[in-house]
Amino acid sequence: MTKPVTASVLEQFQLVLGPRGVLLNAPDKAPYLKEWRDRWHGETKAVLRPASTEEVSRTLQIANTHEIAIVPQSGNTGLVGGQIARPGHDEIVLSLDRMTKITSVDPTDMSLICEAGATLKSVQDAAAKVDRLFPLSLASEGSCRIGGNLASNAGGVNVLAYGNARDLCLGLEVVLADGRVWNGIKTLRKDNTGYDLRNMFIGSEGTLGIITGAALKLFPQVKRYDTCFATIPSIAAGLSLLAMAQEMSGNRVVAFELLPEIGIQFAAKHMQARRPLPAGEWFVLFEFADASPDAMFGLMEKAFARGFVSDAVVAQSSAQRDQFWHVRETLSESQRFEGGSIKHDVAVPVSKLPQFIADASEAATRFIPGIRICCFGHMGDGNMHFNISQPIGMDKQAYLDQWEAMNEVVHDVVLKHGGSISAEHGIGVLKRDAMRKIKSPVELEMMRGLKRMLDPKGILSPGRVLPD
Ligand SMILES: Cc1cc2nc3c(=O)[nH]c(=O)nc-3n(C[C@H](O)[C@H](O)[C@H](O)COP(=O)(O)OP(=O)(O)OC[C@H]3O[C@@H](n4cnc5c(N)ncnc54)[C@H](O)[C@@H]3O)c2cc1C
Repeated sequence: MTKPVTASVLEQFQLVLGPRGVLLNAPDKAPYLKEWRDRWHGETKAVLRPASTEEVSRTLQIANTHEIAIVPQSGNTGLVGGQIARPGHDEIVLSLDRMTKITSVDPTDMSLICEAGATLKSVQDAAAKVDRLFPLSLASEGSCRIGGNLASNAGGVNVLAYGNARDLCLGLEVVLADGRVWNGIKTLRKDNTGYDLRNMFIGSEGTLGIITGAALKLFPQVKRYDTCFATIPSIAAGLSLLAMAQEMSGNRVVAFELLPEIGIQFAAKHMQARRPLPAGEWFVLFEFADASPDAMFGLMEKAFARGFVSDAVVAQSSAQRDQFWHVRETLSESQRFEGGSIKHDVAVPVSKLPQFIADASEAATRFIPGIRICCFGHMGDGNMHFNISQPIGMDKQAYLDQWEAMNEVVHDVVLKHGGSISAEHGIGVLKRDAMRKIKSPVELEMMRGLKRMLDPKGILSPGRVLPD
């Protein structure tokens, strides 16, 4: 159990961080306490905004001495409540939003070093300036920050080709709970010298240390995209199309996204998205990067002949490409306007997708008849956002009160198909209780052992990830 935040502790933070580094007034703190989906509303006596690793270290020394709970926050776009200070728990928010420097970009090493508060967009832009690509790409990229991306091991639309945040990281700098600094910033491609500490911190959601800097992997800049929006007759046909696309593009498929008809209708109705094709049941949006110029044409010819697609349009300009992606990127947000939406961020082995979608849809509809299932996402990774809008006319709160029960219905189907109940967004506070069900006692004991060793007083993000 951590201890209450006293006036004397706040004064010590102010001495280290100065007036700009400690926010105490309600209007100043407000943006750090409200999250994107409006699901969690935080409460904190102070938001701390250190400007350097040294300041993070001194802040944690104070917090550890006085056993004060610290919740790291980067861009505040996380979707599982991890970065929001819980009301009634006396937690202090530590924001990385003043640590935004990009320290170096090296096109020969194909690496970039930055502070944890650099936004994902600023990292992508810095790489592009030297004709290189940082391929992590999320709809939240203008706001989310590298520290949060790594702490949550973010995925996004290009995982199929480049991997998730973990695969894109070469080294880390981390401040431990007691203020010690681990400088693991390296741009080496190979380093087999003992345990992999970097990967232990990636995905730990602020519970093991505070990431203050990172060395990231860059790739050659893509010179040419071929982008296709296609109607598929079934999910199984979509998987056949994916396999054919990988083969015919020379493995240059960088994104392969599934969209349902209802999602396109929501995006058209609420987000000014222009639908690329007439009504159907399922659609895919996929992209080749630097494939041979005739690869897409060849694929289309063969895919139509084999019945893997029933309609398709290939972008003829970058404006049209943006228009296709706008439909995909606004799917989630457009659901807001359709009343309550219960979300699932799940993954199954790619081959199991057709059966999973059929079984989960059947089980969810049996549980609440009249629901509107908007299942979309990263088909190439087997990762679906199985989101469910409320039945028309149902009371929104009465529907949202069924959130946990509906999660259980869907998650049981996920587990039956050998899947994961959190493919991208992490555990946070939202899925913490489910950890007992999805992790073996041995796994939980190893995780708890690491936590005890690195944060013996339990000051970092208490109540997240690990169940009591
Ligand atoms: C519109 C939208 C689309 C999204 N699309 C995707 C998607 O496609 N794929 C995907 O994976 N996610 C997606 N997300 C979720 C979210 O954007 C990502 O998880 C992102 O990586 C979080 O980064 P952040 O900087 O906002 O982190 P925050 O929200 O600030 O924090 C996330 C977690 O990391 C911890 N943390 C933050 N900074 C640090 C640090 N420096 N050191 C240690 N711990 C830290 C926090 O305590 C919290 O537990 C989406 C979110 C939105 C709103």
